[in-house]
Order: sequence, then structure tokens, then C-alpha cells
Amino acid sequence: MTGEHGVNEKKITGQTAIVTGSSSGIGAGIARELGAAGANVVVNYAGNRDGANEVVHQIIEGGGSAIAVKADVSREEDVASMFREAIDTYGTVDILVSNAGVQKDAAFLDMTLDQWNRVIGINLTGAFLCAREAAREFLRRGLVPERSSALGKIIFISSVHEIIPWAGHVNYAASKGGVMLFMKSIAQELGPQKIRVNSIAPGAIKTPINRPAWETPEAEANLLNLIPYNRVGEPVDIARAAVWLASDASDYVHGTSLLVDGGMALYPGFASGG
Ligand code: NAD
Repeated sequence: MTGEHGVNEKKITGQTAIVTGSSSGIGAGIARELGAAGANVVVNYAGNRDGANEVVHQIIEGGGSAIAVKADVSREEDVASMFREAIDTYGTVDILVSNAGVQKDAAFLDMTLDQWNRVIGINLTGAFLCAREAAREFLRRGLVPERSSALGKIIFISSVHEIIPWAGHVNYAASKGGVMLFMKSIAQELGPQKIRVNSIAPGAIKTPINRPAWETPEAEANLLNLIPYNRVGEPVDIARAAVWLASDASDYVHGTSLLVDGGMALYPGFASGG
């Protein structure tokens, strides 16, 4: 308990979470943290089976329960079979963390339709397919008040680029901007059914997706110019926020994007200009 009126962090005990793209990076961190907070975790992966198995192993070693499930979130039939496997194993799904995402960067004039479609297909359509399946399962199962005040929780991992334009990455910024209004629209639509929907918008987090931006001291120093709090984030920074959003501790938080970015979205260029 976190005080007389506090909410037990272990309130997600016995709940089941699907974390898409959790064989590496932020998703792996979220899966581990949800497992440590008592949830059964479905560790989804698209290609990296070893990474997924390692995350499952870490959760089980910590006393939790987890399975690895292969599914490409941009494919409707894969998403349906991932949910079926989760429900067959754990009975239901209570929490979706829609985290899977890719970058296919190119100057706008050179961007191919394939680069555009791949990023929109995984980052935006994948979020749609997983959220729709989750909401259907929450409604099928019904409220279990002793487990959670909400029928279910959906958390999108978007990006500061849902609000900050990003030249050279227009497919990615468009996908994350799309996730923002998709999240808010379904929050409006599903709130009356007690389905809680939010996003986490990470800033720069050290993961494989952005390795060139932090792997050398020069690159990291350059990146820190964009981060008022003056450190690059780690997956656990996002994972702690995800556990909070998944638990009843955040029960009145609905339809919001939580920036977890060390202040990246504060327009740090204006600290000395303007
Ligand atoms: P990452 O590359 O480690 O993670 C992305 C994961 O998505 C990988 O595990 C990958 O296998 C998986 N994936 C890719 N295509 C998939 C598909 N079709 N189906 C299922 N899974 C698929 O990088 P990350 O930084 O951990 O990224 C996780 C999320 O965080 C992404 O949505 C990314 O856009 C977002 N994000 C990252 C940062 C950052 O600085 N690292 C910042 C903002 C937002």
C-alpha cells in the first residue's frame, strides 16, 4: 500500500496483459515490469523468438507468469490468433499495451510507398487491430470488480512525435499523430463501457530503434541538447508509467497522452532563443 488511501501496486495481480513487440527495448521493459507487478504477461514478438523467450524467462525467474506468442500486429488473422492463445492460456485479457513500432526513414522525396505502408501498417493499423480485439474481449468477459474498477485498459506507446514534427521521418510522425487521435477517439467511444484508454509518449529512450542517436558519446551529447532533464531515457522509465496506467492507481486518467520524455517536448531551443 502507498498510504492509508493508497492503491496497492500489486493491484494488477491476476490480470493478464498483452504487450506487443516486447522481445526488445521498451516493450521488453514493460513486460518485465508488469510481470513484477503481478500480471500474467503475453510477450508478443514478430521475428525475434530468442528475445521473447529471454523476457519470458526473466518474468518467470522473478516469480511471475508469461508466455511468448508470435504475431505480426499488422495482420488481422495474427492478432486474432494471439488473443485466442492468450485467452486459452489465462482465461481473458485485462490490459493491452500496444507497443510494436518501426521506423523506415527516408527523405520525403525519396520515400517509397512500401516504406510509408509498412510504418502505417504496423504503428497505426497494428494499434487499431490490437485495440479492437482487446475491447471486444473486455466486453465479452464483463467487469470483475475485485480485479479492477475498469473493464479493461488500453495503453498505446506513441511518441513525442505525435506532437513534434520530424523531417526525414514523415511516415513515423504521421503514424504517431494518427495514434494520438485514434486513442482519444476510442477513449471517447469506449469510456462509457468502462474501458480506460491512454497513451505514453516517450522521448528518447535507449533501445535498438534509435541506436545511432545514442551509441557514441558525440551522438549522445548531440541528443542531450534536445532533453532539458539532461539524460537519455531507459525502458524502465516508460515501464513504470505503464504499470501505473494499467493499475487502478490511475483510475480517473482517461484519454490522455502521458509525455515521458525528460522535457523533450518543451521546445528546448527556446531556452536561450525566441
Ligand atoms: P524496438 O525496435 O526495440 O522495439 C520495437 C518492437 O516492435 C520490436 O520488438 C519489434 O520486433 C516489434 N515489431 C516490429 N514490427 C512488428 C510487427 N509487425 N508485429 C509485432 N511486433 C513488431 O524499439 P523501441 O524503442 O523499444 O520501440 C517500442 C515503441 O516505442 C515503438 O512503438 C516506438 O515507436 C516507440 N518509441 C520509441 C522511442 C525511443 O526513443 N526508443 C521513442 C518514442 C517512441
